[in-house]
Amino acid sequence: MFMYRTCAFCNGKLPGDGGPSGLGVGQRLAFDEWKARLWVVCPKCSRWNLAPLDDRLEKIEALARAAARGRVAAATEQVALIRWQHYDFVRVEKPRRLEFATWRYGERLKARRREQLKFVLPVTVAAVGLAVAVNVTAGGSFGVFVWNIPRGAQWLYTRIVGRRSVGVAEPPICERCGTVLQLRARHVAYARVVGQAQGDVALILSCPNCHAEGAMLVGRDAHNALRQGLTYLALARAGRQRVEDAARLVEGAGGPDQLIRDVARRELTLRSLAPERRLALEMAVDERAEVTELERQWRDAEELADIADGQLSTTTELEEELRRLKKRPEGDQPSS
Ligand SMILES: [Zn+2]
Ligand SMILES: [Zn+2]
Repeated sequence: MFMYRTCAFCNGKLPGDGGPSGLGVGQRLAFDEWKARLWVVCPKCSRWNLAPLDDRLEKIEALARAAARGRVAAATEQVALIRWQHYDFVRVEKPRRLEFATWRYGERLKARRREQLKFVLPVTVAAVGLAVAVNVTAGGSFGVFVWNIPRGAQWLYTRIVGRRSVGVAEPPICERCGTVLQLRARHVAYARVVGQAQGDVALILSCPNCHAEGAMLVGRDAHNALRQGLTYLALARAGRQRVEDAARLVEGAGGPDQLIRDVARRELTLRSLAPERRLALEMAVDERAEVTELERQWRDAEELADIADGQLSTTTELEEELRRLKKRPEGDQPSS
């Protein structure tokens, strides 16, 4: 069976061989026996990659058996981190969202900070070294300058993240001025969310050229753009993002779909949203993207079940159907 080798979110290589899950990849695995979900957790960005549907129940059972023999390293009422041999298992204990989301996104924010420090620290150290050398040469007149270096490195990092191009299927074209938009993370800051049918999310883009609202992204493109734009804004717009507050906002709104609708109703650009509401939106979009992916996998499974039940009568029909299913693009996961 097919399983991805790289993280769908950051493209980093996923380590490990999946251990008892039989996935063939993953060193940290998360599973939810209640919802029959299984993920490989990326060590670089801490995001959860949903495993394909094939035999997922058997794989989850195998994981649960191994986890029962492991050592519980940390646990809340909702999630337990279990060490077994050289694997980590994250067991979702109860389908309650608040604490689960808090834990999961707390990990993500920590990973984001680590990623940032990996850039900011070496640049700062190198720049301070240079400044000291220059200072000594110049006779000690640059003392104040050194204190600005960490902030400078931070600024540079934010710029780099903001310049990352957004992964969309086709670059959108501005309806007003006809420009092909080379969308970058920082452009998304000026976009705003609009609600779609069935609770899905769309994004109205402000054209960097004519500054009018001239293009719209939907589906996976909207998810990708939102994720990247919100990651950039978390750096660029100062303000503490407390995971508990954001999780409570999602819960208070009545769930991810309602939160997206609430944000859409406000008609604010992403950069004008309060920090914790931005994080809440990020959580809601993730949930939404995951559910969409699950639905797609269920549909495929249903189609295969139809074939097995002999609803396609002739051999030609059957072969055509199989060919069509095989032609589906691999790695059908959101990329960012
Ligand atoms: Zn990753
Ligand atoms: Zn335009």
